Amino acid sequence: MKVFEEKKGNIFRILSEAISEGIVIVNAKQEIVTSNEAADNMFGYAPGELLGQNLKVLIPRKYSDTHPVQVSEYLGKNDPRKMGHGRDLYGRRKDESTFPVEAGLNPFEIYGNRYVMALVTDITVRKNQENQIAELNTQLEQKIEMRTQALKRSINELEEEVRKRKDAEDKIKESLRKERELNDLKTKFLSLVSHEFKTPLSGILTSATLAGKYTETAQQDKREKHLRTIQNKVKYLNNILNDFLSIERIEAGKATYKFDTFPLSKVVNEVIYNANMLLKEDQKINYPNNIEDITLNFDEKILELSLTNLINNAIKYSPEATTIDVVVIPEEESLSIKIIDQGRGIPEKEQKFIFNRYFRAENALLDQGTGIGLNIVKSHLESLDGTVTFESEENKGSTFTITFPTNKTIE
Ligand code: ADP
Repeated sequence: MKVFEEKKGNIFRILSEAISEGIVIVNAKQEIVTSNEAADNMFGYAPGELLGQNLKVLIPRKYSDTHPVQVSEYLGKNDPRKMGHGRDLYGRRKDESTFPVEAGLNPFEIYGNRYVMALVTDITVRKNQENQIAELNTQLEQKIEMRTQALKRSINELEEEVRKRKDAEDKIKESLRKERELNDLKTKFLSLVSHEFKTPLSGILTSATLAGKYTETAQQDKREKHLRTIQNKVKYLNNILNDFLSIERIEAGKATYKFDTFPLSKVVNEVIYNANMLLKEDQKINYPNNIEDITLNFDEKILELSLTNLINNAIKYSPEATTIDVVVIPEEESLSIKIIDQGRGIPEKEQKFIFNRYFRAENALLDQGTGIGLNIVKSHLESLDGTVTFESEENKGSTFTITFPTNKTIE
């Protein structure tokens, strides 16, 4: 030790003062045995002031017990190594301020004594730069994050815009479709009217011509037969016109309803009386038998229109020699009327369309008809909180049921 101390004043000093790193050498007791000028300056000590002091004075107080400078560990080793293993190291100046350092430890032995030479670099500048870079990186990341958010917002806005345009396009398409449908309906309506009116009108003309030919008094029954035919066909045309007028009123939202108190039998009698004129050979209508005491508060015209449509259909779509039952089922606050026929029925695959306006099933196309009766019945009844439903089996028959409230008061 002594020899080492003596020699350090020359070669060591020359060498160590020439380099910019701080050099601190400690003995096995961790006492500082020498330090160069760079180390003294770095830690804020006067030359020679550190000699004999414990290494701890160079280490921040909060670390001095746990600081990774386990010098004694190195005393037994010969390999130089860097300290810190990736952790930040700090040095403590005489004025207690701390600063970041990088340190390498080099254990060595001289004249039987072990020492550790610590090479210390003040890395304040580098650390500051690192911090600045880290700060810049953080700012950059924040900027990227902000830009990404802004981009996301733009994408969302764009998507919203696309959606809005698509909606608008759909609406335009929809109104175009409606307009086209309306045009189709108008064309259909015109051809339907011309077609539907042609046959009864020529029937009326024929009957009128024939009636005119029976001039004798004895031919009165023949005249009456033709007059009945004329009456029927005029009624039929009248019904069609009423249906068309109903459609127009429903479409224009101008359907008005009038509530009255009236006996059910009055309407049923009238409808069945008129329907009897349309019956085919040996067809008959079974009158409901329990209705004499029933009084309703409902729209009489709508009830008449509904029953007329359903009973006329039952006659039209049933063959000769079949029965049509009219059954009335009174409930506490509503009334159901069933029209049961033994006719051709409605093909199952077409049943779901039967209330669509102008729809006619394929097994009905040879008969006269417009396909609007059921549609009107449904619209009117539903406007009055009623319903119309049916069950049908092809070639067996159909049952149409209307149900409506019996003591409804108009709002
Ligand atoms: P139209 O009788 O003038 O064709 P409707 O709207 O009254 O029009 O009826 C629509 C369709 O429903 C008819 O064309 C027919 O195919 C079917 N339909 C209605 N009532 C019956 C019934 N009682 N039996 C069989 N088919 C029926």
